[in-house]
Parts: sequence; C-alpha cells; structure tokens
Amino acid sequence: TDAYLSRAEAATDLNAYVRMTPDLAKSQAKASDERIAKGEARPLEGIPLGIKDLFCTKDIETNAASHILDGFVPPYESTVSQNLLDDGGVFLGKLNLDEFAMGSSNETSYYGPVVNPWRRGNEETKLTPGGSSGGSSSAVSARLCAAATATDTGGSIRQPASLTATVGIKPTYGRCSRWGIVAFASSLDQAGPITRDVRDGAIMLSSMASHDPKDSTSINRPVPDYEKALEGGVKGMKIGIPKEYRLDGMNEEIDAVWEKGAQLLRDQGAEVVEVSLPLTKYALPVYYIVAPAEASSNLARYDGVKYGLRVHDDNIHEMYMKTRAEGFGKEVQRRLMIGTYVLSAGYYDAYYLRAQRVRKKIADELAEVFKSVDLLLTPSSPGAAFGFGEKSADPIEMYLNDVFTVTANLAGIPGISVPAGLDAQGLPLGLQLLAPAFGEETMLRGARALE
Ligand code: GLN
Repeated sequence: TDAYLSRAEAATDLNAYVRMTPDLAKSQAKASDERIAKGEARPLEGIPLGIKDLFCTKDIETNAASHILDGFVPPYESTVSQNLLDDGGVFLGKLNLDEFAMGSSNETSYYGPVVNPWRRGNEETKLTPGGSSGGSSSAVSARLCAAATATDTGGSIRQPASLTATVGIKPTYGRCSRWGIVAFASSLDQAGPITRDVRDGAIMLSSMASHDPKDSTSINRPVPDYEKALEGGVKGMKIGIPKEYRLDGMNEEIDAVWEKGAQLLRDQGAEVVEVSLPLTKYALPVYYIVAPAEASSNLARYDGVKYGLRVHDDNIHEMYMKTRAEGFGKEVQRRLMIGTYVLSAGYYDAYYLRAQRVRKKIADELAEVFKSVDLLLTPSSPGAAFGFGEKSADPIEMYLNDVFTVTANLAGIPGISVPAGLDAQGLPLGLQLLAPAFGEETMLRGARALE
C-alpha cells in the first residue's frame, strides 16, 4: 500500500486520481495485516485498488468528474465497492473519468484530462488513455493501483483498456449491482474491473459481482469462481469473426493483430469461423439515441436542490436553470439536449421507440449467432491511443471510437478487451471477445488463450 501510495502521489502528471485517500488506505492495510496474522485472510486481502469516481463511497466525496456534484459526500457505499471492501481490498483513492462517464477520451472531465502513461512526459506527443474509465486504465497501466473499478455503458471499460495495454471486463448486464453507481444510462450501465492481466480480472470480477436486492436489474444467480474458470483452455471451442467488423479504411495493423489473435486461438485447438452480423451498422446510431435518452432522465435529478452545486437565485426556476447551465459541461449538455429531443412527444416514435426496436433486433441477431459459436473475436477499438483535441472537436468522430463495443451493451452480453500487441508507433492495440449472456467463464478462458 505504501509503495502504491507514493507512486500514485508522485504521478500528478497523469491526473489519474481526482482524490487520494491515504489515511483510509493505511488503516485498511493495517486491518488486512492483522487479519493475515490471525490466519483470516480474505480473497483480496491488502490489495491496493483505485475506485472510479462514479462509484459512491461512504463519507468520501464523489463527483462523477462533474462540477454539478461539487461537495457531494455520499452517506452510503456502492454495492460493488462494498463487496471489494468486504473481501479485504484497500482503497487508494478515487479515479478520474469523463464527466458522468460520457466520453471516450477522458477529455470531458471537470478535473481535466487524464494522460496515457504510454506517452508520458512530452507535452506535444501526449495521448489520451481512452474513456470514460481513463483514470482507471491509466492508473492500472502505470502501476498506480493493482486493479481498478470501472463502468461500461458503451465501451468505457474495454476501449480504455485497449488503449493502455490493460485488461478490461464488461460483465453481463445484471451481474454486478448498479446500486450506488452514479447513473448514466441505466439499461446499459455495467460495472467491471480494469486489471493488468486476465487472472487479476477474474479475481476482481468474482468479488465485484453479486446479487443485490437493492438493484432490481441485478440477477439472482450464483457468482462462479472466475479464477477457476481460467483452466481448461479453448480446445474444441468455436470462435466467430464477424465480417461486418472489418471496416473500410481500418488501420492495417489492427487487421494483423486480429489475425494473430485468431491464429493463437487456432493453435490452441479452437476452430475459427467467419460469421455475419448485418445489423452491426445500426448499433452506434441506436446507442446514441438510447444512451442520451436515459441520461436526460437520470440527470434530471441534478437541479441544485438535493446534491452538490447550487447557483442561487430568488426565483426557483432561474435557480434550476443557472445551476444546470453552470454545473454541466458541454458534452453532458449535448447529450441532455439529444436525449430530451428524442423523448419529446413529437419525436418519441420516430427516434426512441424505433431505436428500442432495432436494439431488440440487434440482441436477437447476436443470440442467433451464439447458437453456432462460443465466442466472437473482434478488435476492441478502431485505432490506438490518440492525441488531445484530435477527436474532441468533432463529436461524431469521437462517437465512432465506440463502434466495436456498443453492441455488447445494447444486447446486455459480456465483453473483454485483452492487450494484443503494438502498432508501428509502439502503441497498444486490444482485441475483444464477446460471449452470450452469463458466458463469462468461457470468455475468460478465451481471453487467457490470447495473452
Ligand atoms: N464513449 C461512450 C459514450 O460516450 C461510452 C461511455 C461509457 O461506456 N460510459 O457514451
């Protein structure tokens, strides 16, 4: 804990932590030592963790990287972080993210962007660590924590993992409780870990996952021992390569890494086949209707009354408006406008309802493909880490980064990103494995084979 704390405190250039909790960490580590001495060690005893600042932590300020949550100190602990504490985890601090987890580069954070440790130091060549869990990916990659919590609404665990050579797992919808996680788009949000390797990811997931009566979408199903599931290999598995994921003009290096991954699986006894998912092209447009719609509803609660920031005005309506205008950043405001537009009386059928129908078809199409293959292998992201400002000027360009990840959220299925090699600039690229709902064990075995 001391080693991680001092490394994290010295790494201010990365801006990965928004808040460190050294006193808490030290007392938790001491309690861990005592339990170990008594022979009562728990599964994560003494492991130094970073917590994405979207998870409410009791008595520790939680802002979701938004100005509007200034000074918000939750009186409760999120179920996922409580599970980690119950298993002996040590909390080093809260990790930076895109504001309310909206973004793919960590540039929308009120606390400033996070830096990718793969290009550290040089002002001109600095790169983003991906997003929204950029604090988590940067911190794990730079060894500023042993593992981190993250959340994935459209790719925010897998894409940052891919850009920093870490492992990111987005479990099946309902596998981890959403209770106490600041809501972005409730039907898509899932918690998961970012870790250095697949085994750590499996161990973290076993602890984070649980059935929770406080989240009505949490699934009442026993949590498997995911670490044990790593044994057994991929012999006899059938892995699908969806041909629609081969985008025009995509980086050749990604193609090469993809083929190398397929070959690794073949070498270990899996059969690799091409499959077709024709509805893939609708996933991104559907996501960017459903996610903002749900966000506009979820974020209606930030009105200056109950939480955080309040811009005073004698007229209560003026107070609401001024608070929201000042408290939300540009990207969040953009999402709220899109969301309220697609939900408005005149456009609800044309946009929101239609998007929901296509979403169901996308999920059905995936379920159909999973009748003939165990897993799907795709790139995690259409490119390696990019520079600050490179995509943030054009929201559409930024949204395109999620092209390979959003389908898993729309369908509620699990996905994992595994480091798969470097491009010509020496930057990490990741491969993604997708599995049918509750196929985490098979998925983790496949991921292990790619390491
Ligand atoms: N980049 C996507 C978005 O901005 C996904 C974010 C996420 O998964 N939290 O909506």
